[in-house]
Amino acid sequence: MSVKDIITVPNDILKKISEPIVNVGINEKKLINDLFETMYNSNGIGLAAVQVGILKRVVVIDVSSKDEKKNPMSFINPVIKNLSDETSVYEEGCLSIPETFIEIERPKVCEVEYIDLDGKKKMIKCEGLLSTCLQHEINHLDGKLIIDHLSKLKRDIIIKKISKTKKNPDRVIV
Ligand SMILES: [Zn+2]
Repeated sequence: MSVKDIITVPNDILKKISEPIVNVGINEKKLINDLFETMYNSNGIGLAAVQVGILKRVVVIDVSSKDEKKNPMSFINPVIKNLSDETSVYEEGCLSIPETFIEIERPKVCEVEYIDLDGKKKMIKCEGLLSTCLQHEINHLDGKLIIDHLSKLKRDIIIKKISKTKKNPDRVIV
């Protein structure tokens, strides 16, 4: 297992659509383990493969609170099958958009079909934080970020601010 670098905005890969997984083999399981390690290392509650530069439809989530036992959940090829009319609002952050929190209204309940680690088709109905988190991660697989809920102007301001503070690994001062 290894902790991967998380890609942050601006980076065009975050706008790309991820490809479905065809077969759940050793490489896919290793990818999921790496995603969990990377997510826990950054204190995140969800991570999509695209955020470490891999355009595969895989997301990992753990919405357990700090004093609870870990509850790692992984979703391969997740597809939203149903969304409730009732909505809920959370202030969402994203590991790919540092220090930015945006209030987003989403359907409160979602039903998602996915493939589990054994390659079996499963269905989950979730609400609350898990529902919001899963919708947020599935958005990543379709190249959609929380800043896409904002106007272009607000989005540009956030990206500009993050670009300025981003470390440039190629820059050396000698
Ligand atoms: Zn995110």
